[in-house]
Amino acid sequence: MEKTQFKAESKRLLDLMINSIYTHKEIFLREIISNASDATDKRYYNALVRNETGLNRELLPIDIAIDKDKRTLTVSDRGCGMSYDELENNLGTIAKSGSLAFKKEHEGAADIDIIGQFGVGFYSAFMVSQKVEVLTKSEETGEAYLWSSEGADGYTIEAAEKDEIGTNIIMTIKDNTEEENYDEFLDSYRIRAIVKKYSDYIAYPIKMAMEQRRAKSGSDPANIEYETFMEVETLNSMVPIWKKAKSEVSEDDYNQFYQDKFMDYAKPLKIIHSATEGAATYNALLFIPSETPYNYYSKNFEKGLQLYASGVLIMEKCADLLPDYFSFVRGLVDSQDLSLNISREILQHDRQLKIIANSLEKKIKNELLTMLKNDREKYESFFDKFGLQLKYGAYDNYGAGKEAVKDLLLFYSSTEQKLVSLAEYISRMKEDQSNIYYVCGNSIDQIDLLPQIEMMKDKGYEVLYLTEMIDEFALKMMRVYEEKEFKSISDGDLNLESDEEKEAAEKKAEEYKELFEAMKEVLGDKVTAVKLSSRLKSHPVCLSVEGPVSLEMEKVLNAMPQNDIPVKAQRVLEINGEHPIFSKLCQLKDDQTMLKNYTEILYTQALLLEGLSPEDTLTYVNAVCSLMV
Ligand code: ADP
Repeated sequence: MEKTQFKAESKRLLDLMINSIYTHKEIFLREIISNASDATDKRYYNALVRNETGLNRELLPIDIAIDKDKRTLTVSDRGCGMSYDELENNLGTIAKSGSLAFKKEHEGAADIDIIGQFGVGFYSAFMVSQKVEVLTKSEETGEAYLWSSEGADGYTIEAAEKDEIGTNIIMTIKDNTEEENYDEFLDSYRIRAIVKKYSDYIAYPIKMAMEQRRAKSGSDPANIEYETFMEVETLNSMVPIWKKAKSEVSEDDYNQFYQDKFMDYAKPLKIIHSATEGAATYNALLFIPSETPYNYYSKNFEKGLQLYASGVLIMEKCADLLPDYFSFVRGLVDSQDLSLNISREILQHDRQLKIIANSLEKKIKNELLTMLKNDREKYESFFDKFGLQLKYGAYDNYGAGKEAVKDLLLFYSSTEQKLVSLAEYISRMKEDQSNIYYVCGNSIDQIDLLPQIEMMKDKGYEVLYLTEMIDEFALKMMRVYEEKEFKSISDGDLNLESDEEKEAAEKKAEEYKELFEAMKEVLGDKVTAVKLSSRLKSHPVCLSVEGPVSLEMEKVLNAMPQNDIPVKAQRVLEINGEHPIFSKLCQLKDDQTMLKNYTEILYTQALLLEGLSPEDTLTYVNAVCSLMV
């Protein structure tokens, strides 16, 4: 019979499996059983939707059989089976498994890790098998086929006979080699141990005939003779991990479950396991990943939790259970309040689902707040990975999520020199302080050099450093926190001086009005005004802005591809009246050329300090040169 070759990507994974030197080869059984369970779920679900009575999980066991002579280990399910096309598509190609996408991302990482950490699926059978056969009868078509492969050189599919609907995976176990013992996978005690270790929670009975010993009937009580016999045993407890009491589940169990089910190579950062009763009754097992998924901040990322109705999986990714700002949460929800044959469209409007979603949101938020309070280091690690998403949450949908996320946000603080929450900022505010001060820049170091920061430090005000694009947009959307308004220290009207200081400044401004007007004329449209500064200490100049668009927002908005009308912040050049340069400017009042050069240079300096590029490089260079000769 003609062999069909595996598709290129599948072949790569297959080669990896066949030549694997991975030490935990036993995980192949977990993968095969997990596929059997998924297929049985589908069949069970279909039956429930059709209102077929009389079917229960006990009637859909997964059977394991060992034939030592033929060296076969067979796993049989009564699931939905596969049609010819499904065999071709599902077993000839690797469709979506996360493993290859991950592998591309981490090119060069050891293959072994990938096998160990991911659900690698059906192909893992080739780690221990010289030949794998799949005898399957589809529920849908009622036809049976035999798929067969010895690995690298492709596979065959032929029509076959099979009485029951479902799939038998027949693995012919490799012969022992000098280095490897494969016989263990033909030993029923070893197989029982592997099933208990990895597949205990599978919802269908996993059955196998085990060799037992008993006293021979009628044997002499003084000299008992034993005989062996075979008895079918159910190997797994069938209680899903999320239905167990927390005290019964070890951390390892949770981690293992998470990594298998959600295909993560790392342990979760946080496990949330809860049984809730009341307005909504459900069990939830949620995980916060410790690493950002490789596609998290991309369009391809799909949020959602697995949804079970009374233990039956009804949806793989129910997006309505998670708000966008908590989209990083993985896990599942099992509720008896949901009807089984509910369609996706109806589910979206289901009242009960909304109640569950609200309750989950509160739970997640509380867990995060508790982490923030009691385990700062862990929280900061979480925030490092997913904080950006929380900030988007404050901004997206016109700030619909701001109430939910506001207490979870962290920003770098000038006084604490580390990340702080807004509540912490408020707790340290000066008595007469009515604003939460912030400043934007490319990095903490760059912000630290900004002229306007110096006086804030001097006066003892704490300032939040915003270094991410979304930061200022998020704060502007929130507008206030605990009734304290957010204020950029680059805003024109900072209003920090005392009345006397203000009066003196006004007087001085009036006095040097002509100088400022002359400088404004030099700069033309580049600035809306040149004026005396109240926020400078040792630096001669800085930029501030008037109006709603800040320099940072100007940068962000102009970088957006869909923005064709350039946005411009209304810049104001502020001059330090106490700086020696100011006296120099006063002297230059009547020397038009020199005043022009000084003004251009000072303006460009102010731009550079803000992390902006000089607008007119040539004029700047010429001005500097003319001062040097
Ligand atoms: P994954 O389980 O991650 O999708 P696998 O390589 O394990 O990847 O399996 C590929 C596909 O083959 C499954 O998605 C499923 O459609 C099909 N399949 C595997 N085993 C069975 C089975 N026992 N019964 C029905 N379909 C199966």
